[in-house]
Amino acid sequence: MKEESRLIREQFPRSQNREHSVPMYLTSSFIFDDAEQCRAIFANEQEGIIYSRYSNPNTSEFVNKVCAMEIAEAGLAFSSGMAAVFASFAALLKNGDHVVSSRAIFGSTHQLFTELFPRWGITHTYVDATKPEQWEDAIQDNTKMIFLETPSNPGLELVDLEWLGSFKQKYPHIILSIDNCFATPYLQKPTQYGFDLVSHSATKYIDGQGRVLGGVVVGRKDLIDEMMFFIRHTGPAMSPFNAWVLSKSIETLPLRMDRHCSNALAVAEALEAHEEVESVRYPFLPSHPQYELAKKQMRLGGGIVTFVVKGGYERAKRFMDAMEMILITSNLGDSRTIATHPASTTHSKLKEEERLNLGILPGTIRISVGLEDIDDIRDDVLQALEKSK
Ligand SMILES: *Cc1c(COP(=O)(O)O)cnc(C)c1O
Repeated sequence: MKEESRLIREQFPRSQNREHSVPMYLTSSFIFDDAEQCRAIFANEQEGIIYSRYSNPNTSEFVNKVCAMEIAEAGLAFSSGMAAVFASFAALLKNGDHVVSSRAIFGSTHQLFTELFPRWGITHTYVDATKPEQWEDAIQDNTKMIFLETPSNPGLELVDLEWLGSFKQKYPHIILSIDNCFATPYLQKPTQYGFDLVSHSATKYIDGQGRVLGGVVVGRKDLIDEMMFFIRHTGPAMSPFNAWVLSKSIETLPLRMDRHCSNALAVAEALEAHEEVESVRYPFLPSHPQYELAKKQMRLGGGIVTFVVKGGYERAKRFMDAMEMILITSNLGDSRTIATHPASTTHSKLKEEERLNLGILPGTIRISVGLEDIDDIRDDVLQALEKSK
């Protein structure tokens, strides 16, 4: 079967009730036929579900679907995207290890590197991910992992996945890990380039309707097995209810992404043509400095558009207040269009200089373009530009 068919037809084996759609398995534990079966399953001699902190039919079905899309051997589900990202580090790193990471990463991941990991003796080096020589220079004898996001948030800067995959071959012991949340497994498949681990906040496009939190990590089976030990004993498990929601959501991911991307491109083009806009970033706009790379490694440009409005912070605030349909909230990847002002919200904890490094100006606005009719989205953005003059 083709990828999108597998995504839809993948299902946990039916129960004796012959249900068509998978039911919710809201149970913390599972029973055994007899003491011998219980012993064998606990001893890993026989496959079987024991307890929902380890696995559950709904979470397994969801993970299998993500594995199918990401072309990955195995995976694990988590209660949130941050639980997934944290576990991908905490389960595999130890005191004395070093991580090389792209500089432009999700805010909470930055807090892990800078505030929490120093307590446990894990160090990191940030690199400007577009500069190959910085990756080379950052590798140390104790480097255990390379981590990145592409496209970055909110600057929409890309990292060359093929280059990084071949770079990593010089260091077979280093784990190559990516947070693929912005691109989704529909637009970009990092395992094709030799990535070992791929993490997602399922809260974003995978749910796509702003309802539940969730996270997932997929990749090399030996690493996922090592992570399994960590999650069995620390408990960041995804709730079966959330897994049931997400497993249905992901069936429509390809359809939704096609629409997110065509709407986003249209919004980006309208902004670029507007005289009140200083600059626009969108991977599939020919003016993007890495347009060719975007075309090579992404199926479409994604659902996020970032632009700088003329007039700085005050104007950006007036723009946000002038929107009528689009609401102000900090989520992204929702069916509804969302606008965010990064400098005063998601990235307000950074120093001005750090923000400029990430391409965040006082007038930068990030739009997560939703699934509404493109005319309504574009009209609202354009009228807010006029009204905020
Ligand atoms: C939202 C997000 C996360 C964190 O996900 P939660 O589900 O909110 O915990 C991690 N990485 C990226 C790129 C995100 O956008």
